Amino acid sequence: ASEGEATAASTSADWLGSAPSIAEGDIVETRDTELLIIGAGNAGMAAAATAADLGLDFTLCEKSGSMQSTRHWFGAVNTRYTEEAGAKVDTARLLNELMRYSSCQGDPRVARVWIEESAEMVEWIDPILAAAGMACEFDNDVDHPTGGTEYLVPTIQHYYSGTDAAGEKLERNKVLLAYINERGYDVAYNHSLAKLVQDEAGRVTGAIFETPDGYVQINSERGVLLATGGYSSNSAMLHACNPMVERCVTSQAGSPNNVGDGIRAALWAGAAKDAVGAPLIFDRGAVLPGQNAGIVTEEGTPAGFAGEPVVQFNLGSQPFMKVGRDGKRFYNESTPYNDCCFAAASNEGGVFCQVFDANLKENVKRFSTIGCSRLTQIKLATQPDTPIDEIYAEEMERGVLIKADTLSELADKLGFEGQAKENFLHEVEKNNQFFDNQADLDFGKEPYRLSEIRTAPFYGCWYGGCILCTLDGVRINADMQVLDNDNHVIDGLYATGDCSGSMFANNYPEYFAGLACGRSLTFSRHAVRHMAGDIA
Ligand SMILES: Cc1cc2nc3c(=O)[nH]c(=O)nc-3n(C[C@H](O)[C@H](O)[C@H](O)COP(=O)(O)OP(=O)(O)OC[C@H]3O[C@@H](n4cnc5c(N)ncnc54)[C@H](O)[C@@H]3O)c2cc1C
Repeated sequence: ASEGEATAASTSADWLGSAPSIAEGDIVETRDTELLIIGAGNAGMAAAATAADLGLDFTLCEKSGSMQSTRHWFGAVNTRYTEEAGAKVDTARLLNELMRYSSCQGDPRVARVWIEESAEMVEWIDPILAAAGMACEFDNDVDHPTGGTEYLVPTIQHYYSGTDAAGEKLERNKVLLAYINERGYDVAYNHSLAKLVQDEAGRVTGAIFETPDGYVQINSERGVLLATGGYSSNSAMLHACNPMVERCVTSQAGSPNNVGDGIRAALWAGAAKDAVGAPLIFDRGAVLPGQNAGIVTEEGTPAGFAGEPVVQFNLGSQPFMKVGRDGKRFYNESTPYNDCCFAAASNEGGVFCQVFDANLKENVKRFSTIGCSRLTQIKLATQPDTPIDEIYAEEMERGVLIKADTLSELADKLGFEGQAKENFLHEVEKNNQFFDNQADLDFGKEPYRLSEIRTAPFYGCWYGGCILCTLDGVRINADMQVLDNDNHVIDGLYATGDCSGSMFANNYPEYFAGLACGRSLTFSRHAVRHMAGDIA
């Protein structure tokens, strides 16, 4: 497709718009570089550090005045850390399970790059982070005496933390920034990608940026790597490409800068996009009784939802009983985070209510969830003597976490009336019987994830989903080269991180904890090495 023409994945979609026409005379400055990276986020910083290692004369442009926050947990497969702990992932099974989540709308050849190269990525990044004072831990606690989940839950999640000499908490992106600074590079802030530049043959030769001084064109010898993130803040794109968000999301935790700029610029240059959306949604968007899912802000402003400003209430991911506004349970709570939200999309208001009793701490310990939902387990385990009300004082004050001495009073406070209240009380009874019999006859939740609701005080909280980012992007091959609608490489154009596609569809397989960030780091490294000719 020529510049500005809609491509197959986006025909008649008004979210796409067309490439801005920028007259040559409006370009206030033209620069040349060897390799251009766009977006200083989790993917872009790993790309920049790789380029610095290779001694490339690269340029890293960032839309805002700072880097994106570090997303700490990342998934990597069969690394020295997992091996030291005796955990070995069956990579063939992992690949096939991953493809099953997307019904093969992701590309196994692309996914395999993460599986096969993430350990090398750890070997590379580990000394950089270690030199700055960071050490690695990872989750290896998925089998425990009380039970296990039926899903594949591979031990892949790595977490680096530490403090610097001044006692400041270290973050990976900041360490990588210092790393490139020491080698003479920096980020060009306030450079917002406006469009890509192509030669007559269609090769991407650079990009034009909007800056406070006017348009700047940067020509790049080895092409352009897009690392501009997804589009969780773009209402029009969410409507068009991820319609489930409207139905089940009540808050968003992504950056307001992530509005799909890189994806749209690539489409204007002829790229193909994943046909199906892949939102990363966690079951943590706490709301007040009566609040609904859906975008509440106007188009053209960052997508906002009813549940903000409290963005994620981590407790929502614990597999306690959850019901809709009709008071009825509607799914197996012991499933990946987004399943709850997708199931609740059919509930009135797109929301669900989580209920538990005074034995919260014991139950959460036994559930032993993985990934970032484990933060609740850690929070409660490290405060054994602190009352629940004190631990969750903020949520109680805001009115989202509701407490009562009886179940009837709790039902009233949560807004259940008439038949819905009867249903709610009946559902609690049934829940308790399932616990006694250690069998969930309705939805088959694993016995170790069943819990009683019998000991006062009782608690309840309404939630919808919290969208963190989007994972559907421009189609890429196994070298992260962007593909057109005929599956041909667009010369000179690469994509990594959330703006790249070919990996997910419909959901985020969060039981592969840290996969989103793990693939971003791994793909960035691969892309830059390929652009530099360091790998064939
Ligand atoms: C709160 C939160 C927590 C998360 N935690 C985890 C986690 O622990 N583990 C995990 O695996 N995943 C996590 N994720 C998801 C993870 O961050 C992403 O999947 C991914 O790693 C992001 O990498 P990225 O570089 O593509 O995007 P980002 O890190 O979002 O970076 C994109 C960058 O591009 C810039 N940009 C955008 N448009 C332009 C433009 N026009 N011109 C120039 N620059 C532009 C943005 O300003 C931003 O700096 C989390 C997400 C959120 C929101």
